[in-house]
Amino acid sequence: MRQTFLPFALPDVDDTELSQIKEVLDSGWITTGAKTHQFEQAFAQAVGAKYAIAVNSCTAAMHLALEAIGLQTGDEVITTPYTFAATAEVIRYFGAKPVLVDINVTDFNINPELIDRNLTTRTRAVMPIHIAGLPADLDSIDDLADHRNLAVIEDAAHAFPAQYKGQIIGQSTHGGKNPRLTCFSFYATKTITTGEGGMITTANETIADRCRMMALHGISKDAWKRYTAEGSWYYEIIAPGYKYNLTDIASAMGMAQLAKAERMAQRRRDIAQRYNQIFKEMPQLQIPFERSDCQHAWHLYMLRLNLERLKISRNQFIEELKARHIGVSVHFIPLHLHPYYRQTYGYQPTDFPIAYQEYQREISLPIYSKMSDADVQDVLEAVVEIAQIYAV
Ligand SMILES: *Cc1c(COP(=O)(O)O)cnc(C)c1O
Repeated sequence: MRQTFLPFALPDVDDTELSQIKEVLDSGWITTGAKTHQFEQAFAQAVGAKYAIAVNSCTAAMHLALEAIGLQTGDEVITTPYTFAATAEVIRYFGAKPVLVDINVTDFNINPELIDRNLTTRTRAVMPIHIAGLPADLDSIDDLADHRNLAVIEDAAHAFPAQYKGQIIGQSTHGGKNPRLTCFSFYATKTITTGEGGMITTANETIADRCRMMALHGISKDAWKRYTAEGSWYYEIIAPGYKYNLTDIASAMGMAQLAKAERMAQRRRDIAQRYNQIFKEMPQLQIPFERSDCQHAWHLYMLRLNLERLKISRNQFIEELKARHIGVSVHFIPLHLHPYYRQTYGYQPTDFPIAYQEYQREISLPIYSKMSDADVQDVLEAVVEIAQIYAV
């Protein structure tokens, strides 16, 4: 058994982040400026997006996305309960209603048929989550969006870099008249990190301009330049915006992370493959779903327990892993089980039976590029040992 605790997630940082950050510190300009502009350009290029707006979180990105499509009080936005707090809370910021629909049992992603059944005259947008880094069924979602005049706001917090049918998530080549916006997270545990950070990509210029303006107090374009040589003291407030800009210090880190994103993704793919190889032989375990027409970002490795094959619960399984010094997590506690959503909308656990059922047998295992082969082996051995000891 391993002697030291293996964290569930660790950032992959080294001297390249330090030298990028030093460059910013030495420049004398540490908040949003040239480095952030450079990061936006580099990120747009990495995903093939027309426009990219850097912000200080994915939560901010999704808030700005909903603002840019003009979400109003009383409107409805369709998403799933199988996500983090952020996806639904930003809908509540507008006094709009998150209309939750259940997930596919295969892959934890939104079930497009349920979107169709839950559309009303107040539905303005759909927010699919590319959960764990596996893209949601974007073709079906786009079809619906086109027919029913809906915006699509992708919660791509897990999905850099990922692909859906050859299209990179964030590429936004969707030709329809309804805007598509993709929101990424650079939170500490995500596939690339700036500590805290996020990005909006879109192909729609009007939407991009609105997001950019609202991310910085709703003041006229390039306001941050007002302290530079070419800048002017004059600015205009167009709307009551927010303070969501990303700093150049964070963007410096983002540049270093982007440079190694493919290496880190390859390492996660290798770890997933190694886990799959061993776990797929075990009747106590169900390995994550994959699609041959998608490239998985493997932000999470969402293992499922076949509880009828085990004498212990998921929670006990986690305790056993902890006792073996393996850090794990659960993704996610479905939103409808939380007090706020239960009390506000009167949800019962079985209102979303698949989300409820799959949540109770899910464990997320460590999967990050800093893991050594020995770390991976430790996780494998611990999981296999527990599954065998407690097999029915
Ligand atoms: C992490 C996460 C977010 C929020 O990202 P922040 O950058 O921390 O705001 C949103 N959605 C999902 C699914 C996430 O996992």
